[in-house]
Amino acid sequence: MSYSNKISDPRFDKYIKNTRDYRYQFGFILAIVAVVGFYLYGEFSDEMDNPEALYIGLSIGAMFFLIGLYAAFSGKKNLPTWDGEVIGKEILKKNGRTYFVVYIEGQNNQKHEINTENDATLYEYFKIGEKVRYHGKLKSIEKFDKSKDDIIFCNACSFLCEIEEVECKNCGCPILK
Ligand SMILES: [Zn+2]
Repeated sequence: MSYSNKISDPRFDKYIKNTRDYRYQFGFILAIVAVVGFYLYGEFSDEMDNPEALYIGLSIGAMFFLIGLYAAFSGKKNLPTWDGEVIGKEILKKNGRTYFVVYIEGQNNQKHEINTENDATLYEYFKIGEKVRYHGKLKSIEKFDKSKDDIIFCNACSFLCEIEEVECKNCGCPILK
């Protein structure tokens, strides 16, 4: 029973960097598609001519590019890591949907809520009174006691793994256990 020392594994840092690059590249590709798309539209349609169509493409492209940049840089911010405890659980029914909510509180009153819709797996995974650690850089939670669990969630990509596994089948990051 402990928190895993694998949290300092370089594969996590690589995963975080790749996610950031991906967001940035995605925005960049959308930007190119918008510029080229509107330019071709201006050339070949009767509805609109260039350079008007190209200008529209450029402004939409700039917007996608900025959104990509923003997503990449906001993901870069490292949140603090803190230790806490599961303080409550609740099942809420709203508009025909069921929400499974787990409430976690840190020593310095940090609050965290895990809210899943129509899926009780995470809800059952956490027990009231359990000690947990919030990993700021991964924005995910690790349980202190995993001795009674058959499953574990990848702290990088949230993929559901078997407790015996050493690394996540989805993203290749080490399982924190
Ligand atoms: Zn993973």
